[in-house]
Parts: sequence; structure tokens; C-alpha cells
Amino acid sequence: MIIPVRLGVRAYDIVVERGALCSLGVRLRGLGVGSRVALMSSAGVLRLHGKPAQESLEAAGFTTVLVEVPDGEAAKTLAVAAHCWNALLEGGLDRTSTVVALGGGAVGDVAGFVAATYMRGTNLVHVPTTVLAQVDASIGGKTAIDHPQAKNLIGAFHQPRLVLTDPATLASLPEREFRSGLAEIVKHGIVLDGTYFAEVEASAATMLRRDLPTLERVIGGSCRLKAAIVERDEREAELRHVLNYGHTIGHALEAVSGYTRWTHGEAVALGIVGEARLAERLGLANRPTVERQERLLAAVGLPTRAADIDTDAVLAAIGRDKKARDGRVPFVLAPAIGQFTLVYDVPSAEVRAAVATLAS
Ligand code: NAD
Repeated sequence: MIIPVRLGVRAYDIVVERGALCSLGVRLRGLGVGSRVALMSSAGVLRLHGKPAQESLEAAGFTTVLVEVPDGEAAKTLAVAAHCWNALLEGGLDRTSTVVALGGGAVGDVAGFVAATYMRGTNLVHVPTTVLAQVDASIGGKTAIDHPQAKNLIGAFHQPRLVLTDPATLASLPEREFRSGLAEIVKHGIVLDGTYFAEVEASAATMLRRDLPTLERVIGGSCRLKAAIVERDEREAELRHVLNYGHTIGHALEAVSGYTRWTHGEAVALGIVGEARLAERLGLANRPTVERQERLLAAVGLPTRAADIDTDAVLAAIGRDKKARDGRVPFVLAPAIGQFTLVYDVPSAEVRAAVATLAS
């Protein structure tokens, strides 16, 4: 499946196809870029999926420089970015060259940041290998490294030239990481497309077995939904906030637990439950709409309850949300499956009550 992201001169395709990894070189050749490529990845992912990517690039005539970055969030630092800039310079890469990000969202974010800044911007290709990166992080051009005070604080918008998504790479993903990424798929269905949500409901069991045709269809559907939002709001003026459904409470839960208790997707799943209940409390959504969201999250193995939440700390963390404008934090809420509305000025007592229900 090929999904075009229509962004004028920055337009690109998302290719979602079993075995796509082996077509990396030929597809990159088709973009008419220079002959040097930096293949950026972590040691573990390189060991699992580096060989077919590198062979495909070299068979298409590219000179490849391997740039290894630390695993996970540890890759998103200025020191790692500097290490990458040096490696690109030493490898003789210029502005016609390409950075290929092979890995999860963390590799994608730092590789994207390096591509955005090296010589004021060079070509970037994402080859995402986690569910989260395939349906979310690789699409839309957000790149970032972390600041000691907050995640993703330093970055740039830099659209890739191509996103090459091979669902077969997910076979090696640890179970918890796999399920974690499904939270973003569920999120896309809830706020953007009721028909897609029903398709995910019907596919939950086969998806969990990592059936490849199912993954290709569901991941492709999710990419299409995200791409349509990015096309209409490339720089997150307002509409793109819809993709933060579940993330206002979710991010706060991650922050107060020091990013250790839940994975990002698990925190988003809890955030979805909290925000669904908030919509119900505000009279925007009915009970069956809330329960349907919780049922699907549980069906794909994500948490919908959490004991021992420090409600005061969560409320304080929500107040520091990056989306706040003049101290007002907007909430994306879902009045029905497939619909969303942006609500400012939600009374904090209601947010507190909704968060508190996560324990029950
Ligand atoms: P991750 O990149 O940390 O990867 C999770 C783990 O899975 C890592 O240990 C990684 O080495 C391993 N891994 C990756 N692919 C694998 C495979 N196929 N087989 C086995 N192991 C594999 O985590 P993630 O959830 O992919 O991404 C999270 C990051 O993405 C965060 O830094 C977040 O800020 C960022 N993000 C960015 C955007 C964006 O728009 N730029 C959107 C969402 C999230």
C-alpha cells in the first residue's frame, strides 16, 4: 500500500508493505538523491534488520556509512547528535546525501534532528521498526532531542523524503513494545474514523498474533489517517492537536512516574480511559462510547486501570503541558467514536475526578 502525504514541495510517500526493507535501495535511487547514505540505528536493531537494509542500499549503488546510536531514549541527546554530525562529516556526506533512520521512534527522532540540522538540512528516510514508529513517529516531520528539563524540547520540523514501513520487522519486537504501539492505532480510530475503529475491533486477535496481512492493513489504515491530519496542519497550529487524544493525561502519568512505571503506549491507554471518562463527566459522551474504548484497549492487552496514582501530582503535570496557551490546557475529547472536539477551560475538579476514576 502506498499512501501519499500531499505537502506540496515537501510531499512524500509512505510505503507499507511486507518485505519493503529489501526495496530500500531501489526506492531511494528513484528519488534522485546523492550516492552517500548514513544508515543510523541502534546496535540491537542493526543486528536484527541492518543487513537487508544495507545490502539493498549497496546493491542500488549507494555508499553506506553505518552510524550507531544508543538504544531507546538515550539516543535523544545533544552529545549523540554531535557524534552523528561528526560521523556524517567523516563519511563525506553532503546536502544531497541521505540519512536513513532504521529503528523505533527514538532513532527516528534523533536521526531526523541530525538530518534537519546537518548542513542546514539533508535528505531523510524513515524505516520504522516499532508499531509506534510505523503508525505515528515516522509520519509528519517532527524531529527532536530531549532537554534535561523536558522530553522533545529541542527540535525542528523536517519532513522525510520517504517512509518505508515493513510490518515484517515487527516479528522481533518484544511483546510489551508491540502492544504499547497499538494504543496509537486505537487512538486514531477513536478520534478520526469510526469505520476504522470497528475494523481494529474485528482484527484485535489476529493483530495480536502479528498476522502480516492484518498488520499491513491496520498499520496502513492508521498511516492514512495520520497523513490526512498532517496534510491539513503540517506545523500543529491546531487540528494536529487531535493526535494528542489520551496524551494530556497520558504524558502527565508518564512524567509523575519518572517514565518508568508504564511504557508510553500504556500511559496513553490510561490517558484515553481518563479522557473518555472526562468527556462523559462533561456530558459530551455517553457511557457506551466510553466502555467501547476501554473494551478495545483491554482486548489488545493495554491497561485500563491503575492503582496508587498521585492525583495532585498528575494535575500539576497537566498544568505544565506543552500544548498550554496562556495557561489554558486544551483537551481533545471524543463525543462519539470517530469524532473529536477540542475543549479549553475544562474545570480542574472534573479532570481530577476523571483521573481518580482510573483507580476503580
Ligand atoms: P524506541 O525507539 O525506544 O524503541 C523501543 C525498543 O524497541 C528499543 O529498545 C529498540 O531498540 C527496540 N526495537 C525497535 N525496533 C525493534 C524490532 N523490530 N525488533 C526488536 N526490537 C526493536 O521506542 P518507540 O516506542 O518506537 O518510540 C518512542 C520515541 O518516539 C520517544 O522518544 C517519543 O518521544 C518518540 N515519538 C516521536 C513522535 C514524532 O512525531 N516524532 C511521535 C511519537 C513518539
